[in-house]
Amino acid sequence: MNQTVPADILYRIDLLNGQARGLLLRSTAMAEEGRRIHGLSRTATAALGRLMSMTCIMGALLKEDKGSVSCIVRGDGPLGTMIAVGRPTGDVKGYVQQPDVELPRVEGKLPVGDAVGRHGTLQVIKDLGFGEPYSGQVNLVSGELGEDFALYFTASEQTPSLVSLGVLTGDTVQAAGGLLVQLLPGALQEAPGLLEARAPVFSHISSLLAEWGDEALIHRLFEGLEPKVLGTQSVRYACDCSRERVERALISLGRAELEQLIREQDHCTVDCQFCNSRRAFSGQELRALLDVATRP
Ligand SMILES: [Zn+2]
Repeated sequence: MNQTVPADILYRIDLLNGQARGLLLRSTAMAEEGRRIHGLSRTATAALGRLMSMTCIMGALLKEDKGSVSCIVRGDGPLGTMIAVGRPTGDVKGYVQQPDVELPRVEGKLPVGDAVGRHGTLQVIKDLGFGEPYSGQVNLVSGELGEDFALYFTASEQTPSLVSLGVLTGDTVQAAGGLLVQLLPGALQEAPGLLEARAPVFSHISSLLAEWGDEALIHRLFEGLEPKVLGTQSVRYACDCSRERVERALISLGRAELEQLIREQDHCTVDCQFCNSRRAFSGQELRALLDVATRP
C-alpha cells in the first residue's frame, strides 16, 4: 500500500443545528484493498468501491454491535451480482461476480452504470443480531449506485437523502469515498432547499477527496450548513471469516451431504469469496464434523 494514502475514516457531522446529518467517508484504502484482493478491473474497482462505501456508512449507522448490513446489487450489466457487507465496527467486505469486466471510459469517466446494468434491483438486508433481519429492495434507477441508494433511502426507509459516491482509479485507487446527507425529524421547511443547493458540490465527491484534506473538505462541502463534527470512526476492508465458521457451515450441510462428500472425495477445500482465503479439510476432519452433525 502506498504510504501517502490517508487512513480511511468516517465523519459524523451535524448540519443546520440538528436539522440534518452528514456522513462523510474517505475509503481510498478500502477500495484499493478490494481491487487488490479480487484483481478487479478499473470499472469493477469503481463499482465495488462505491457499493462498499455506502455499505460502510450504513453499517456504521447500526446501533447494535452484533449487527450487519448487506447490500446486494443484481443488475443486468456485465459485472453480474455485487455484494458488500458492513458492520458497526467499520469493517467492510465486498465481492463482484465478474471481477475482470472492463468497459472504455465515457467522457473520461468509468461507465459504472453500464457495467452494473440499468435494470435490476438493490436489496438491503439489515441483521440486528437478533430477530428476523429487515429487508428492503428497490429497482435500480441508473446502476450508478448513488441514485439507486438515494431511491432506497427515500422509498424504503422514508428518509429523504442525498447520496454521492465516487472512486478515482488508475492502476491503483487514487481516491474513494461517499457522502450521505439526511434530513432529520423536525427539520424546518427551508432545510431541504438548503441541502439541495449543495447537491452540485456533493456530486464531485471523488475529486474533492483527492484534492482536499478532511477539514477543508468538510467546510467546502457543507458551506452554509453550519457543519459540526460529532465524531469520527476508522473503517477498513476486513473479512470476518474463520475456520470455525466454515466448520459450522459444513456441519449445517447435514448428514447425507457430508457422507457423500467423504465417500466421493474424502477431503474438501472451502474458499471465502470475500478474502479468497482457502481452508482445507481432510477426510478425518470431515468425519469428525459428521460425528457432530449426527449427534442427537
Ligand atoms: Zn474471508
